Amino acid sequence: MARRAIIIGAGAGGLACATELAAAGWQVDVFEARSEPGGKMHQRQVGGVGIDSGPTVFTMHWVFEQLFKRGGKHFDDCVALTESRRLARHAWTDSSYLDLFHDIDQSSEAIAKFSDEENVDGYQRFCKDGEIIHGLLKDNFMASARPSPAKLTYRLLRDGGMKALSVAPHKSLWQSLGRYFSDPRLRQLYGRYSTYVGSSPLLTPSTLMLIAHVERQGVWCVAGGMRALADAMANVASENGATFHYNSAVREITGDERSVRGITLASGETHNADVVIFNGDTAALSDGLLGERVRRAVPSRARKQRGLSAITWCMRASTSGLDLDHHNVFFAADYEKEFSHIFEQRGICPEPTVYVCAQDRLNGECKSPNGERLLLLINAPADGDHLAWTPEKLLEQRNRALDVIKRGRVNIEFEEENCLATSPDDWHRRFPASGGSLYGAASHGMFSIFSRASSRTKVRGLYLAGGSVHPGPGVPMATLSGTLAAREILEQVN
Ligand SMILES: Cc1cc2nc3c(=O)[nH]c(=O)nc-3n(C[C@H](O)[C@H](O)[C@H](O)COP(=O)(O)OP(=O)(O)OC[C@H]3O[C@@H](n4cnc5c(N)ncnc54)[C@H](O)[C@@H]3O)c2cc1C
Repeated sequence: MARRAIIIGAGAGGLACATELAAAGWQVDVFEARSEPGGKMHQRQVGGVGIDSGPTVFTMHWVFEQLFKRGGKHFDDCVALTESRRLARHAWTDSSYLDLFHDIDQSSEAIAKFSDEENVDGYQRFCKDGEIIHGLLKDNFMASARPSPAKLTYRLLRDGGMKALSVAPHKSLWQSLGRYFSDPRLRQLYGRYSTYVGSSPLLTPSTLMLIAHVERQGVWCVAGGMRALADAMANVASENGATFHYNSAVREITGDERSVRGITLASGETHNADVVIFNGDTAALSDGLLGERVRRAVPSRARKQRGLSAITWCMRASTSGLDLDHHNVFFAADYEKEFSHIFEQRGICPEPTVYVCAQDRLNGECKSPNGERLLLLINAPADGDHLAWTPEKLLEQRNRALDVIKRGRVNIEFEEENCLATSPDDWHRRFPASGGSLYGAASHGMFSIFSRASSRTKVRGLYLAGGSVHPGPGVPMATLSGTLAAREILEQVN
């Protein structure tokens, strides 16, 4: 008889694990609290249209190609992608702006016009070092089930990787960026990549400069938005035999302290299985939301260890002034202050940097100029369980964000009924025990990337997948975590 796996949650990690185990012949049941797959990959309806309200930057195409291949499908037949010619448009409140590309020469030319030759040289050194770090960490960290600092350092030394780099891994990303860029705007631009893992550039290790390299390898837009990716991932799992149960919140993981037996749903229904994979934020386990038995399966997370949350606004709007691209960042002047406000003062500084995803724009074209779909995002502390984001407070933040955008030469106009805000409180409700953190724990400190839980837990039969476990947050990384969990299960249980 086939072994049975229960997966709690249909986020990227849960969906990937479902495909892997179903393709290996397991009976797989996925229980998802919401009515659809995707988790953070979701849309909100505004003015009658769906707007991506979670992830928007799609990278690491190879992760999905390999997953779909193991599920017997060609990824490109299931998901329509268009490569974005520009990585992003970056604008500052002094009205300067810079477009970056994946081609280093094209970006160098843009940086030469925007800044100077010294910073072009810094950019080229930065790209070279980012590529080396990525090459070293791709197999030794991302694809490894349980990387240890000792093993990784040994491999880095053995492969001569450290010598090739001009960065010091014990320094923060922010400190290291100062060695590449004398132009503060470029330091700010590359510091922002730490927010992709919910962290501050002032506290995150310099090795995370590899994220900029990953983005330079290509950014794609998914036809139908990231929700379409979630649907395609759920389809490939279903076609391999996985069964999805929506509107099925899991109340408890059953068993004893040493091993799991199954789950109990909020409705009281029980199901047994050989293994249970939890795809929610691991803080839900350590906070006891899935029962006392599994509370100690993972380390608990203090409030100050949480990664970034965000306030987002989905809107249908018209824009004027500087043309938007698909991905746009409007930088406020004092980047250091932004992060000390969030991580030390647990607030948002008066002038926040704003990300804008113009979802109807790509490669110089705008599909619906009179009612384009925008997602605006500012970073926020993950205190969704402490702060009360009232409509008045959200309105004040929105006005500040729109002011930064305006000083970056873009005007956004919209009707009030065509704008929907999501606050850290909302994210916390949607992703229980997270405090609204969208990325699990922050990667602060040299060894932080090793402190995430791995897919195997102390409790026999209980495994983890998702952005709060190794190798970390982001849709491709969470997808990889699902694959790593399935590999562990197939090695241990089969
Ligand atoms: C606003 C925003 C912007 C982002 N931008 C990007 C980006 O541009 N690029 C990128 O790659 N990443 C981005 N991310 C991060 C990325 O979305 C996440 O890291 C990734 O999607 C997390 O996947 P996951 O596997 O952890 O599952 P999640 O998406 O966290 O889903 C977990 C699922 O488990 C379900 N669940 C939890 N508990 C239970 C229970 N008890 N019973 C039943 N179901 C349960 C939840 O309902 C949810 O559906 C962004 C995230 C957000 C929110």
